Amino acid sequence: MSLFTLPTIPDIPVKGESAGYPIGRVFCVGRNYAAHAAEMGFEVDREAPFYFTKSPANAVLTGASMPYPPGTENFHHEMELVIAIGKPVFRCSKEQGLDAIYAYGCGLDMTRRDLQIASRNKQRPWDLGKDVEDSAVFAPLTKAGDFGAVGQQRIWLEVNGEVKQDATLEELIWKVDEIVSDLSKFYHLRPGDLIMTGTPAGVGPVVAGDVIAGGVDGLDPIALTITDAE
Ligand code: MN
Repeated sequence: MSLFTLPTIPDIPVKGESAGYPIGRVFCVGRNYAAHAAEMGFEVDREAPFYFTKSPANAVLTGASMPYPPGTENFHHEMELVIAIGKPVFRCSKEQGLDAIYAYGCGLDMTRRDLQIASRNKQRPWDLGKDVEDSAVFAPLTKAGDFGAVGQQRIWLEVNGEVKQDATLEELIWKVDEIVSDLSKFYHLRPGDLIMTGTPAGVGPVVAGDVIAGGVDGLDPIALTITDAE
């Protein structure tokens, strides 16, 4: 018995399953598309991927509305392919990493860009920029076998019907099997672990009233509405 009740973290629906996928941990890959790295002022680093995390408490499902968050004047959309882990792996090979992927989904990594950059420039953690309330948005998952191989699929995002991000998954610098294998050097990955694989170029600000819609070919689309600040 707990002293008090926490807000419920939603399970992510899975296509073809009545049961949902519980959200355990949310890992995110930084700068995983060359054109996005460039727009952020960086060259691609092929040395190793890098990661940050978002609290599962900040996860919401597609169709949500979120108030424009406090503390920012530059709140950005980031459209991402999400990996859902389906079996425990630790220090695994790329082949084992691919095999551990249960499903894929569309996700949004909403970001207080001004705070992220200010933190980065001061060599401080990114949490205020990235771990924003309601900022990890997930669409229903599609099982890996139903999606097929990650490759030429288009990944895109629109704000109020205007295309802002438009790329293909082939542009991923670190491929999904490499990401799982690499991240498993640092964590005992397990079912419930989600990995947001990074965003393509074209990130930009949203304001109250904006409607964000995104998709990846072969996956359920994602939507988020920004409402007035509280
Ligand atoms: Mn991101």
